Amino acid sequence: MIEFPEFRPLKISQSTRAATDTQLASLDHVVIVVPKDPPASAFMSLPQGKQLHKLLERVRTQGGNRAMSRLTNVRATGVTIAMLDTGSAFGALTWAREVLVDALRDRPRKLGVLTAGLDEPARARTVGHIVAAAEAAAFKLPSFKTEDYPRQAELESVALLDVKPRIELERILAEATGNNLARWLTAMPPNRLTAGTYRHMAETLAKRYSLGCKFIGEHELEKLGAGAFLAVAQGNAKRDAGMLRLCYRPRGSQKPDLTLIGKGVLFDTGGTNLKPFKGMLDMHTDMQGSAVALGTLIALVEMKVPYAVDAWLALTENRMSATGYKSQDVVTAANGTSIQVIHTDAEGRMVLADALALAARDEPRLIIDYATLTGTCVSALTQRYSGVFTNRQGANQLLLDAGAASGERVWPFPMDEDFDQLLRSDVADVRQCTVDSHGDHVLAARFLSRFVPKSIPWVHVDLSAGEHKGGLAHIPTDITGFGVRFTLELLGSQEPAELAARMAPDGATPGKASP
Ligand SMILES: [Zn+2]
Repeated sequence: MIEFPEFRPLKISQSTRAATDTQLASLDHVVIVVPKDPPASAFMSLPQGKQLHKLLERVRTQGGNRAMSRLTNVRATGVTIAMLDTGSAFGALTWAREVLVDALRDRPRKLGVLTAGLDEPARARTVGHIVAAAEAAAFKLPSFKTEDYPRQAELESVALLDVKPRIELERILAEATGNNLARWLTAMPPNRLTAGTYRHMAETLAKRYSLGCKFIGEHELEKLGAGAFLAVAQGNAKRDAGMLRLCYRPRGSQKPDLTLIGKGVLFDTGGTNLKPFKGMLDMHTDMQGSAVALGTLIALVEMKVPYAVDAWLALTENRMSATGYKSQDVVTAANGTSIQVIHTDAEGRMVLADALALAARDEPRLIIDYATLTGTCVSALTQRYSGVFTNRQGANQLLLDAGAASGERVWPFPMDEDFDQLLRSDVADVRQCTVDSHGDHVLAARFLSRFVPKSIPWVHVDLSAGEHKGGLAHIPTDITGFGVRFTLELLGSQEPAELAARMAPDGATPGKASP
């Protein structure tokens, strides 16, 4: 059985006093951040400030924004001196990742962070970005090597020096836990992360965090009429597919205020409409949506949010099989909608259809789903942005703003009803997709909207930025775990019902039936 690693690998300490020589000499490396165009006075309070100033000036004339050196103490503590990136959150997080690459080059165990000449908000923001990048860099994705190997980083602790007042890191650390968990699950080999082991892991997490946890297996899903999910699962060799439901109930209330849903396709061969080799190679990551839903839930629990949250993970493989579903099959989802199957590789929307329909029965105030759903979303946005879709068109600015502020950038797509004409079927209520797949990300979202009652505000995130070669923003790995930070930013400190109300500026009352 696979054990969880520590999802937040670093010990973080804060000191409100000026950094002493002894303190600095106890560190292997210290990152010093100064403003973008630092005046000479900014260096006065720093150890070896004059030399660092000169060094940085030299780098600046060559267009650089950071330099490395050593302090003249017993440890020869390494120094990375960096000028702040004052651009977007995405830019600042990217800067933090790059600063960390320099700072971790000699594999320090103890890292210090010191700022000079920054005002209080800038200092809090910058230190937060560096901590986020450090937690992401220090976290190890699954490895099954039998011999020890040279690691990228051996970092154990980060000391924040001379911070007054102390910096509020609760959310940054909760997001790091959620993101690391999501990346770890996504990187797991598909023979090790099966529906069975995933279920076991979720049960372990549920115990650790005192969450409710229920597995809805195929037999029960049959009774619930989840024919769309089961169509995908019927090609599996084992009968272990199902929906995993985790519940967080801080107030002991029954109904969820927020429901997070994730596509958990553990390996996607494409099914009967088989993918070619290269397209199939990394399809163990096709469960990233479920990992992001779970990671987001855990982050919210760590934040001790006062409202009820559910996570639904739709777990199955999509296999090439004699018993697999086929083009032109007609199946019926849990809300009674009949679906004409067109392409068996469009399985994500099938499993999500039933997850949305079943989760909606509890009438949550807000639903957010995550899925590595369509190639056309990648074609439209590249892997730097994820696509967002909502049944509350007025919410698009809120989504854009949350993406910009979190550094996990999203772009909204149209959800006009006339797109449904493209999914008209002669034999069923709806076609699963079109044959030519133009605008498939939009049509997939329109398809999914049929399984969410209009009364429930809903956001669908197509995770085109779930993977990005070389990392993205503060995340250094190809698998990005995109979505946790975005969601926590979107939710902010309000109740989901308040956000839901802001999403519907047309006055429609969320949670109540409307035409
Ligand atoms: Zn697929």
